[in-house]
This record gives sequence, C-alpha cells and structure tokens, in this order.
Amino acid sequence: MHRDVLIKLLILEGVLSSEKVITAFKKVRREQFVPERLKEAAYEDTPLPLLGGQTISAPHMVAKMTEELDVKSGQNILEIGTGSGYQAAILSVLNQKGKIFTIELSPELAECAKNALREFENVRVFSGDGSLGLPEYAPYDRIIATAGCPDIPKPWIQQIKDGGKIVAPVGGVYEQRLVLVEKRKGKIIEKDLNFPCVFVSLRGVYGQK
Ligand code: SAH
Repeated sequence: MHRDVLIKLLILEGVLSSEKVITAFKKVRREQFVPERLKEAAYEDTPLPLLGGQTISAPHMVAKMTEELDVKSGQNILEIGTGSGYQAAILSVLNQKGKIFTIELSPELAECAKNALREFENVRVFSGDGSLGLPEYAPYDRIIATAGCPDIPKPWIQQIKDGGKIVAPVGGVYEQRLVLVEKRKGKIIEKDLNFPCVFVSLRGVYGQK
C-alpha cells in the first residue's frame, strides 16, 4: 500500500481525525522504522516484528492512541516502550515545540531507535524500566504506554501533572483495552475507550506477572 492510501483508510475508519495528527502521519516515513526486509510492508495496517519478539504497532493503533492523547503544543511527553521509535517520531512532529522522552527496556532496541530518531531533535531515548516512569524529567503533561499493563503503574500517576492525560493498553497478557486516565484536581478519572487491542507485555516492576 502507499502512504497516502493508508492515511485515507485510517481517516475513513475514523481513527485519524485531527488535522495535526494527519499532518504528522504524512511527514513521518514508517519504512525508516521497520527492519530492512519488511520495508515493502511499511504501509500495511498491521504490526511488524522487531528484535526479540517485540513489535511496531499497527498504524491504526498509533493513530487512535495519538488522537486520544490530545497533545497541545509545547507539552512534555513520556512514552513507555520505544520499540522502533515510530510512535515517538509521530509525537515529535506533532509537538515540535515540546519534548518527548521515551524509555525502552531492551538496550538493543533503545540503541536502534536512537539511530532511527537522530533527525528528531526534540526526542530523547532512554534505556530502562519504564514501568517506573522516568522520574528525572517528571512531571509530564502526557504519558503514553505502548506495552500491555496489568494496571496503570503507580509511578505514572505520580509523574503526571494535574490536568494531564495517560493513554495505555490495560488488561491481561493476551488482550487489553485502551484506557484514558485523567488527573483533575488530584483526582484520578479512568475511562475505558472501548478499543480492544493486543500489545506485547509491559515487563519490569509494575509489569505483567
Ligand atoms: N511504540 C513502539 C511499539 C513498542 S512495542 C513503536 O512505535 O514501535 C512495546 C515495547 O515495550 C517493546 O519494545 C518492549 O521491549 C518495551 N517494553 C516492555 N516492557 C517495558 C518496560 N518496563 N519499560 C520500557 N519498555 C518496555
């Protein structure tokens, strides 16, 4: 498939809707983030394998999560599960005046993503257990997790600003649902976005048991 065709499909499906997210999808080349032998499949709406059994999420999932994250210009964003770096690149273009911090457990994947993201100057890649968040640069306006969590880890709730939002797949190892968490005047409001999904598991201290 061609990039423009994929974008049209995602708009028709209703997962891509805002002008700024559509623009980010047009600017970022997904083939830059997929393994060499899979470049021809870069614009299929399907997850693709990375090193060590991990995956780059399907475009419709990246679209849905990015729209729900509702990024405003200049925000500080934390992503947990850098993987290929594609989601971080979309956030980078969407939020050129802000900063994207992204943390990946696998040092090999973090290294690959660092390379792939070199031209995206507002992105910083870290290697470590993102189930603990990234306290050094907290608090964040937005947190996005791209690995399946049993629950929203406590450190993320502590590291999100008042008025901030978290989007994450929450559930078991084999299936999760997208959840939107908002912190308003210190209160935590959790909403089920009614969007089933299958992500690789969040590992680490607050990960899947
Ligand atoms: N956002 C990615 C998709 C990531 S797949 C992309 O656009 O390509 C999920 C990733 O989460 C995997 O790379 C996995 O290694 C990572 N992961 C799992 N548990 C983690 C943890 N506790 N901290 C950081 N990364 C984790």
